[in-house]
Amino acid sequence: MDIALSDNHLMIQRTVRDFAASEIAPYSAQWDEEGHFPAHIIAKLGELGITGLIFPSKYGGSDGDMLSLVVALEELAKVDSSVAITIEVLTSLSGPLLLHFGTEEQKQKWLVPMLQGKTIGAFALTEPDTGSDARGITTSAVLVDGHWAINGSKSYITNSGSSMTDFIIVAAVTGGDEAGKKEISNIVVPKDAPGLTVGSSYRKIGWRASDTHPLFFEDCRVPEGNLLGERGRGLAQFMKVLDGGRVAISAMAVGLIEVSLQMSLAHALKRRAFGKPLSDHQAIQFKLADMAVSVDLARLATYRAATLVDQGLPHKKEAAIAKLFSSEAALQAVDQAVQIHGGLGFMEDSPIARFYRDAKVLTIGEGTSEIQRMIIARELGC
Ligand SMILES: Cc1cc2nc3c(=O)[nH]c(=O)nc-3n(C[C@H](O)[C@H](O)[C@H](O)COP(=O)(O)OP(=O)(O)OC[C@H]3O[C@@H](n4cnc5c(N)ncnc54)[C@H](O)[C@@H]3O)c2cc1C
Repeated sequence: MDIALSDNHLMIQRTVRDFAASEIAPYSAQWDEEGHFPAHIIAKLGELGITGLIFPSKYGGSDGDMLSLVVALEELAKVDSSVAITIEVLTSLSGPLLLHFGTEEQKQKWLVPMLQGKTIGAFALTEPDTGSDARGITTSAVLVDGHWAINGSKSYITNSGSSMTDFIIVAAVTGGDEAGKKEISNIVVPKDAPGLTVGSSYRKIGWRASDTHPLFFEDCRVPEGNLLGERGRGLAQFMKVLDGGRVAISAMAVGLIEVSLQMSLAHALKRRAFGKPLSDHQAIQFKLADMAVSVDLARLATYRAATLVDQGLPHKKEAAIAKLFSSEAALQAVDQAVQIHGGLGFMEDSPIARFYRDAKVLTIGEGTSEIQRMIIARELGC
């Protein structure tokens, strides 16, 4: 399999790297501390073509491939995981759901402005009583006089309450059979729909500048035509989309491992202990070597999964492998980066402390590590 980066991928990498260095890096610590969602950055990433990277030019995208998005997310996560996850959700969850299952009218209304960087959209599956077990959702949607009446609540929904939020794709139970099997459908709910209340921002240990809220639906009414795709196919729709999402989350993990290595190496070469640079101590060398191994393997697994997506080949197992390995490796890498930085690594003065806080959620969002193992085992035939 040829997974080399093309000139175009390298150009995207350079563009995002330069943009992140000049427009994001100087402000990330402040946004993180204040829990400030940097809407203007998302708009600028739209102008740069990053929000539309993997979408058809027909809808304002760039006809790019998954590997392009992987490269862009890696670069963003090396600087600011909050910005990266904002882009990840719209390019890998809400965007593909609209692209693959939306009507032409729905795409024009919600997808096109989002790809231009004017708006963002969310996908709401998780609820207070269920997350990993998607079939356990209880938020309901009933047809009343040509409208869906939605009742229930959602938890931890990214991109759901910012100044840019335009819509939320809500997974809801729209019926069921006598045996108790639920019919689950996805419905597009505009942010200003009557009956929708966006709760206060969560106080998170990481991704603090990203926009995450609980949502409450009390007889929330949206037109019947806001149903996404076929009624009852909601579960299949988001299972398909989540495979790509896992590749994107894996790319964010690769970025964190790489920046951990870069910063740790630079520190180890400069900082002296016991009369010589840290990098002359074998225990530190081994930590750096382990990080170098991790970044290589995580990147290979991620690029392989992205390449399978681009070739239209099955990638469920490979996406789960990439997400599982990269997110767990990122946790180890940021931990060792703090260790190599010593006391400095524990101080918010260093971005390493923020990276340490940002890494954990990669093993939770879009399917926990346990869920990835379940998917891999199932694909193995268990
Ligand atoms: C910052 C942030 C942003 C998020 N954004 C979104 C979003 O935009 N949209 C959205 O829908 N959700 C979002 N989520 C929710 C996220 O997807 C869920 O938290 C995740 O899927 C886990 O669900 P849960 O929290 O309900 O944990 P649970 O499902 O309750 O799981 C708890 C623990 O039990 C384990 N477990 C569960 N079932 C099994 C099993 N069968 N075998 C072994 N172990 C098991 C899990 O792996 C986990 O370790 C976000 C979460 C966070 C923290």
